[in-house]
Amino acid sequence: MRRKTIIIALVALLLAPLAVFAGGQAENTFVTIGTGGVTGVYYPTGGAISRMINAKYDEYGIKATVESTGGSVYNINAVLSGDLDFGVAQSDRQFQAVNGTAEWADAGPQKDLRAVFSIHPESITLIASMNSGINSVADLKGKRVNIGNPGSGQLQNSKDVLAAAGLTDADIQAEGVKAVEAPGLLNDERIDAFFYTVGHPNGNIKEATAGRVKVMIVPIDGTVADNMTSKYPYYAKSLIPVKEYPMSENTADIPSVGVKATFVTNASVSDDVVYAMTKEVFDNFDDFKKLHPAYQVLTKESMLKGLSAPIHPGALKYYEEAGLVQYINSELIK
Ligand code: GLU
Repeated sequence: MRRKTIIIALVALLLAPLAVFAGGQAENTFVTIGTGGVTGVYYPTGGAISRMINAKYDEYGIKATVESTGGSVYNINAVLSGDLDFGVAQSDRQFQAVNGTAEWADAGPQKDLRAVFSIHPESITLIASMNSGINSVADLKGKRVNIGNPGSGQLQNSKDVLAAAGLTDADIQAEGVKAVEAPGLLNDERIDAFFYTVGHPNGNIKEATAGRVKVMIVPIDGTVADNMTSKYPYYAKSLIPVKEYPMSENTADIPSVGVKATFVTNASVSDDVVYAMTKEVFDNFDDFKKLHPAYQVLTKESMLKGLSAPIHPGALKYYEEAGLVQYINSELIK
């Protein structure tokens, strides 16, 4: 009898913290993550992050869902307006929103944007049909080129590439459709080339290389790449691995210019939610890295570089606990 009482008491003691925690999370918290087109890497990235947090539903009471969107600029604006809780956005677009340039030139610096972490590297990917005769950025002159939908990250990247080659979008026949539609248009020969700023490998470029029309990824190198990296702090030279696209006409890795995907939120999103999302990704880092081949190169340190917005206090709390603060630019710790 006495033994039974002790066991019950012990079990009650063990469960007590859980009951308290569950009590604290009585309300379910629903969060939505803005991503990109379904053939890109943002969409599975949102899926990977949501899977990590949803697996701990009993602990946090957080239910995350993913939304396919028009891309970085859409996501930043939706996070700022409160329509989305989190968004994936290019590091250059995060910089521009914080500094009030590009799409935010009229609205000015976006003070409520907060950084959570960086994710995979992305390269500005220019892919053209062999029939178009496009072998370099300069060859785009007069061609039908998809430069990206409004709301996408790549729209400004395409303009920057053209400008670095002495062209504007008036020198080409510019189209502005979503990346998800571009491989189909290329294979129907309704466009000659398209730009997509994206991690590799991805389904979109695979689709573009797997069609009837032979295609190649066009290098963004030489003075074009030099002009971009010297003019803007957020561009860095990159390489697109040819092995990911065996059906392209390329025979070697393709030089390009890249940025990083980042994870952003709004200052008003609760510290507990941002803490939990950050903790689950970093505490299960090895599992997270397995969720997409574009994450192979990630390190915890790399995931704290390339950010421009202040670090959200919920994320910072985790980085302090985990001893990772040393990797963060101190200007982002407010
Ligand atoms: N970088 C693209 C954008 O910001 C999205 C790429 C992706 O979905 O993987 O619009």
